[in-house]
Amino acid sequence: MSSIAERLDSIRSTLPAGVDLVAVSKFHPVVALQEAYAAGQRIFGESRVQELVEKIPNMPSDTRWHFIGHLQTNKLKQVIGRVALIESVDSLRLLEMIDELSEKRGVVSRVLIQLHVAREETKFGFYPEELLEWFENRGFENLKATHICGLMGMATNTDDTERISADFARIAGTYRKIKEIAPDLRGFDTLSMGMSDDYPLAVAQGSTLVRVGTAIFGQREY
Ligand SMILES: *Cc1c(COP(=O)(O)O)cnc(C)c1O
Repeated sequence: MSSIAERLDSIRSTLPAGVDLVAVSKFHPVVALQEAYAAGQRIFGESRVQELVEKIPNMPSDTRWHFIGHLQTNKLKQVIGRVALIESVDSLRLLEMIDELSEKRGVVSRVLIQLHVAREETKFGFYPEELLEWFENRGFENLKATHICGLMGMATNTDDTERISADFARIAGTYRKIKEIAPDLRGFDTLSMGMSDDYPLAVAQGSTLVRVGTAIFGQREY
């Protein structure tokens, strides 16, 4: 079997310039993350707060953590100020609480807004129409300590590649529309889509950030 370093290399070799790789390390032990770090990987994705805070002190300080799971508001205080990007802002209430706590702590939080387009995958995220309306109403102007850097989304869990591509196209279309609606929104430049099974399709639709776990670290043991 190939090593983590070899798998990282082969994935990276398929990514065009300008597309970054998040190594999704949830459920994998720190030794696996350290192996990836030694192979040059710096961005790691975690989806559970408890696991994230246990791993942080065991990795070098220039590790960039992305939070990619559903974030419960009662766990926010453990995350704010400790991650490079929260990719999974899935409600206005969460966004407002991130902003409030970030301001209180004197930090700026970088976030992506999670879109809901997949058929059944998750109940979390904004519907495209709802999000566009929020941008049209310039809701982002009320944020004091939160920087919206782009969107994150998942495709329907299916073997139907046309369906998957259509989901990614819808997310990418929403991303481009927001850029048109709010051209003054600086640094809105990240489109996070694509996982182990579908990242080439996501990249073809304009993804700038792919989140790959299994194809790097192997199967997760839950
Ligand atoms: C687990 C997870 C991934 C990685 O999935 P793989 O199929 O293992 O690549 C990507 N994005 C999110 C939001 C996840 O929860």
